[in-house]
Amino acid sequence: MSSLQPSHTVVIVGGGQAAGETASELRKQGFEGRVVIVSDESQPPYKRPPLSKAYLAGAVEQAQLFVMQPSILEKHRIEFMGGARVASIDRVGQAVVLADGQRFTYDRLVLATGGRARPLPIPGADAANVFLLRSIDDVTRIRARCAEGKRVVIVGGGFIGLEVAAVLLKQGLHVTVLEGLDRVLARVTAPEVSAFFERVHREAGVTVHTGAQVAELVGAPEVTAVKLADGREIVADFVIAGIGLIANTELAAEAGLVVDNGIVVDEFAQTSDPLIYAAGDCTNHPSAFLGRRVRLESVQNAMEQGRAVARNLMGNTEAYQNVPWFWSDQFDLKLQMVGISTGYEQLVLRGDPQTERSFAAFYLKGGKLVAADAVSRPKDFMFAKKLVAAGAVVDPAVLADPEASLKDLAV
Ligand SMILES: Cc1cc2nc3c(=O)[nH]c(=O)nc-3n(C[C@H](O)[C@H](O)[C@H](O)COP(=O)(O)OP(=O)(O)OC[C@H]3O[C@@H](n4cnc5c(N)ncnc54)[C@H](O)[C@@H]3O)c2cc1C
Repeated sequence: MSSLQPSHTVVIVGGGQAAGETASELRKQGFEGRVVIVSDESQPPYKRPPLSKAYLAGAVEQAQLFVMQPSILEKHRIEFMGGARVASIDRVGQAVVLADGQRFTYDRLVLATGGRARPLPIPGADAANVFLLRSIDDVTRIRARCAEGKRVVIVGGGFIGLEVAAVLLKQGLHVTVLEGLDRVLARVTAPEVSAFFERVHREAGVTVHTGAQVAELVGAPEVTAVKLADGREIVADFVIAGIGLIANTELAAEAGLVVDNGIVVDEFAQTSDPLIYAAGDCTNHPSAFLGRRVRLESVQNAMEQGRAVARNLMGNTEAYQNVPWFWSDQFDLKLQMVGISTGYEQLVLRGDPQTERSFAAFYLKGGKLVAADAVSRPKDFMFAKKLVAAGAVVDPAVLADPEASLKDLAV
């Protein structure tokens, strides 16, 4: 397929970091044609991680979330069309069709449609005081309910639930976290690390219930309590659900693109239509590091895959490679994670999560370091990232010794 010409138009669907990075990288690579971002959100592409951290806490302004300020968009001639939902793709006519019927023709199309927060599948979930957290607008609605002494029930003990709990507790709210599984962060980390975060939250004053099956939201027109399957009722002034993401793949599927837990792309981020690429949370891509396909929900993936899309549109054949990493801020703690720990055979701890507030957990499989979590140990994390990327075989005794530097092990 020929690369982009100056007369060409690239249309990008989505207003997240994948969209923003794709557009900005196209300009960095010297593309001179039209770049049009179509997003159903009104704000220009922005960073979501602060939504459950500094932005919810009121510590940063909305404009600080933007990937590019409006003046930069203008300077780089990146056309932003906000509040516009793409309803369908006409692949034959090479056009996207908006919900209001407008058509935009493209020479290349990039799908950066991300995902939407999963709603609670129980009665009462559509009440006005039940919130999801995916967008700036969600935070605005949540903030309007926050006041000292209010009782918030957070459903979901994953990253978003725990981050929100930490922020709202600091603002003087009474915070309860309900987790359906037997421990928080169960899908992403070891029981020892989960136990650490439960301890930290409880010590700070958060009420954490694990194994808590939410059955019903009680009260009308607004919810006044969350009812559990065992009959217990937890009083709530409002509820926030952080129970995962649904990838926005319907647009691609209805256009006949291959979709399977995400929009299926090859190593060049190209979909089953050579004129259409995809990046970010919405993609299912081959990972050389994992030796299988994966759909990731992380900013670093959205940014790097977006940039790779732009370079490939410009004629490169750059296989997108990525070692997944992630972070979470809770209270004064910074958790950093690299690799995927699922299926690990041995866990090695550096420091004691039962008594300390800073430690690292290393996950070994077949002697190789496949993943690591570091809590407020940035140096260890920096070296662990290299070791995990290299699939290094490391001596567990060195990993376990807080005094031993990982630097010498890192290649
Ligand atoms: C509260 C919160 C905290 C997070 N914290 C972290 C963190 O600490 N670290 C980390 O790595 N990641 C974090 N994440 C995840 C990270 O934000 C996502 O991985 C990232 O935003 C994905 O970017 P994206 O561009 O692929 O998709 P998204 O950000 O989901 O953007 C997709 C965009 O497409 C739009 N769209 C979808 N369909 C259409 C359509 N048909 N027409 C027009 N527009 C459409 C959507 O409205 C949206 O604007 C967090 C996410 C949230 C919500």
